Amino acid sequence: MYYDEIEAFCKKYDNTKREYAFCAETAAQHEEWRQRAAQRLMEISGIRRCEPVEGNARRLESLAENGYAKEYWLLDTEPGIVMPFYLLRPDKPNGGVVLIPHGHGGGKEASVDGMLVSTAGADVKAPLAAVLARDGFFVLCPDERGSGERRERFQQGDSEGARRGNSHRELLQIAVGFGQSVIGLAVWDLMRLVDFAETIPEVRKGAVGCVGMSGGGFQTLWLAALDRRIRAAVTSGYFYGMRDSLVRMANNCACNYVPFMWETMDMGDMGAMIAPRALLIESGREDPLNGHRGLENVREQTETALKAYALYHEENKLIHKVHSGGHVWNGEGVEEFLIKNLC
Ligand SMILES: [Zn+2]
Repeated sequence: MYYDEIEAFCKKYDNTKREYAFCAETAAQHEEWRQRAAQRLMEISGIRRCEPVEGNARRLESLAENGYAKEYWLLDTEPGIVMPFYLLRPDKPNGGVVLIPHGHGGGKEASVDGMLVSTAGADVKAPLAAVLARDGFFVLCPDERGSGERRERFQQGDSEGARRGNSHRELLQIAVGFGQSVIGLAVWDLMRLVDFAETIPEVRKGAVGCVGMSGGGFQTLWLAALDRRIRAAVTSGYFYGMRDSLVRMANNCACNYVPFMWETMDMGDMGAMIAPRALLIESGREDPLNGHRGLENVREQTETALKAYALYHEENKLIHKVHSGGHVWNGEGVEEFLIKNLC
């Protein structure tokens, strides 16, 4: 016999009011709500508790590639906290910059070498980062807290298993006692990376995009919701109702969990915070992370977000693409989406 309790928590979730659910009826109300909602998310995620520090960005290596240079950089994001990242420097800059936070299963190399996309005139797919760099974008691929070169000693090592691992559980367990969370730390770091991006002379002000798959989509969603410098965002495999996908599926990685989240807002409300800026949501029809109700649990959230775009008559800025696969990157139309909205 088992006396488990996740279903009881689901009922509790159903009976809990989300204090910052989107319900504005005018663009002015939306903006007022967005500001209050952002303050609340900054509070509960602990972003507000991160400590500013001089970034001291330094380039350690540069490697010439076809159409761009691949540079290895370090950036201080808090006292004693160092974030390594790759910067792809285009030979012919177009004025835009794109951040690609990675998901679970590796570090920044997955952002540079993975997320393949088709390109016109080529038979084989190429990594999105390289494609964007050849288009002229600066591309920034950081290690997230607890991943890649930022793994704690419990997960450090060169074996395939170790490299795919992360220290999110350990970091959450430490952070929560400070009123912080892994996503709060990760988003703070991405905000510092945007600060850095704005110092690149060839980058036009405001021409900043962010693209991520899975855990990278998670970071992209939070960053775009909280930082209006993100003009175009792509979240793949991470946009669904929290009840089915995070409460009921409580075996997801610890980084998905933020104190007071269930009484604050759902994911569609976070999408509404991004309006009227460009947002592309990519979903896999067979993605198990959509929850037991499948795409219905995604559509309910995209409909919430769409209502916010409608207040600005900018419904076409929110794109929802569904592919036939599972929890995988598809990438169709992402390059065009970024060029259209950032160039
Ligand atoms: Zn995680």
